[in-house]
Amino acid sequence: MGKACGRVVKGLHLYPIMEPSIEQFYEQPAPEILKKFQNFLKRVDKRTILKQLPIMHEAAFEKISCLECARCCKTYSPRFKMPDIKRISKVVGMKETAFIDTYLSMDSEGDYVTKQRPCPFLGNDNACSIYDHRPSDCERFPYTDEDVFFKRPAITLKNAEFCPAVHSVIVDLLAENK
Ligand code: SF4
Ligand code: SF4
Repeated sequence: MGKACGRVVKGLHLYPIMEPSIEQFYEQPAPEILKKFQNFLKRVDKRTILKQLPIMHEAAFEKISCLECARCCKTYSPRFKMPDIKRISKVVGMKETAFIDTYLSMDSEGDYVTKQRPCPFLGNDNACSIYDHRPSDCERFPYTDEDVFFKRPAITLKNAEFCPAVHSVIVDLLAENK
């Protein structure tokens, strides 16, 4: 995840449980929607998107509860940067080296990521056990309220395949800017 999201008890976002069920958002977005989004990004004024994103982000998380989803934490790992490792190892009462040995491995890009999926800090109730201290990647994920959303379209399109919030924001942007 450049992953993560912002939930309050679990990682990522804390938003009300929504009705109807989140399951309806779990389908992957149709390929034509993603193609439309790619074309849309080529023509749209990015300042307009930047103004619209916070509204669409809020709308997405009014209907989607990360605590009902946790797909990012179950499937991908955030990067654990050194400030994250220093902070979290202290919170869990481990030396940094022990924390790294226990939970992390280095990926092909030289970033520390979790050895296992789902994330070892994800509880059975989908709550993040280190929520207040989670990696910065987790705090920012899924980037639906920041410029990464359109500056790194490849990441956004990848995230749209599993994150219902990203899917929702893409659909809303396309509808608003026909
Ligand atoms: S630390 Fe793990 S459980 Fe917590 S928000 Fe990040 S990925 Fe999810
Ligand atoms: S995949 Fe998206 S909606 Fe699901 S928990 Fe992660 S940020 Fe929240």
